[in-house]
Amino acid sequence: MGRKEQGSVGFIGLGTMGREMARNLLEAGFAVRVFDVVPKAIDDLVALGAEAATGPADAARDADIAITMLPDTPQVEEIVLGPGGLLADPPRGRLVVDMSTISPVAVQRMAAELKRVGVDMIDAPVSGGPIGAKNATLSIMAGGEAQAFARAKPFFEAMGTTINHVGAPGAGQAVKLCNQLICGINIQAICEALALGRAFGVDLEQMRGVLLGGSAASWMLDKLGPAMIMGDASAGFRIDLMLKDLRLVQEQALALSVPLPATALVTSQYVEARAHGEGSNGNQALFRVYDRMANQPRHPDNG
Ligand code: NAD
Repeated sequence: MGRKEQGSVGFIGLGTMGREMARNLLEAGFAVRVFDVVPKAIDDLVALGAEAATGPADAARDADIAITMLPDTPQVEEIVLGPGGLLADPPRGRLVVDMSTISPVAVQRMAAELKRVGVDMIDAPVSGGPIGAKNATLSIMAGGEAQAFARAKPFFEAMGTTINHVGAPGAGQAVKLCNQLICGINIQAICEALALGRAFGVDLEQMRGVLLGGSAASWMLDKLGPAMIMGDASAGFRIDLMLKDLRLVQEQALALSVPLPATALVTSQYVEARAHGEGSNGNQALFRVYDRMANQPRHPDNG
């Protein structure tokens, strides 16, 4: 790989988030070798200066670090533990960093397996969405050994601005799941405020501006509020992915005997949204659940 002076990355998973993160690594001067099951995703990064790989191990073999950014636990387990994966054929730098949102228990299992062959694993999920990925302003929460975190940090600095080592393997995912619980319930609170504001007949965009100047302000109200007011369910963090995260939250809460009634409620509202065919919509499409409950379609194609 070229540009060795900065270090080299094998990057696996070039979707909404991964393609922007890989691009930022390239722009920061790292050599990046990429793989995805979708060939066009590889081609797009090659056009920006990345090298194409034929599989996960091929992407990572000569690299200082392997980074995965995949949908869910099974895909990360397949790439790490599966045949021809990173456990059997680890990166030269003996460091694997998963930045997806997956089960903390699965992270602990994979980290232990990798440790047995002398490879460190960091779980480093992110917050900040596609905008944060594009602008390299992600919040990155990392679990793993301190020396492994220190080695990964220069790579994190190319992708994010808030970078924290939060504990042992799995701790990054634990913090991320707490983050997701807040995001889900916050979107729900905004839906309720918009439903009530609409019934009062107030100007919702003006109301949003007022709320952003006071103690009800939030990232969700700022970034997703306009789409919710306009009735735009399309882009963003998919409902399917939000449900995956809320499922992980609930699994961990049950395992640890922590009652989370508000999470349970918003999870079933997201299930309702998916049942109406909205799994691929952005998670702000939760507003449609409230539209249906109030029989107040905001948009001509409101399901
Ligand atoms: P995505 O579905 O857009 O991208 C995932 C990519 O992985 C796709 O390009 C897919 O083709 C690829 N892939 C799937 N299986 C593969 C395999 N076996 N080998 C190689 N490539 C494979 O998802 P995303 O939105 O980029 O999210 C990735 C992860 O980051 C998820 O865990 C998500 O929960 C988390 N996340 C997403 C956001 C967001 O706003 N989209 C924000 C924070 C965290």
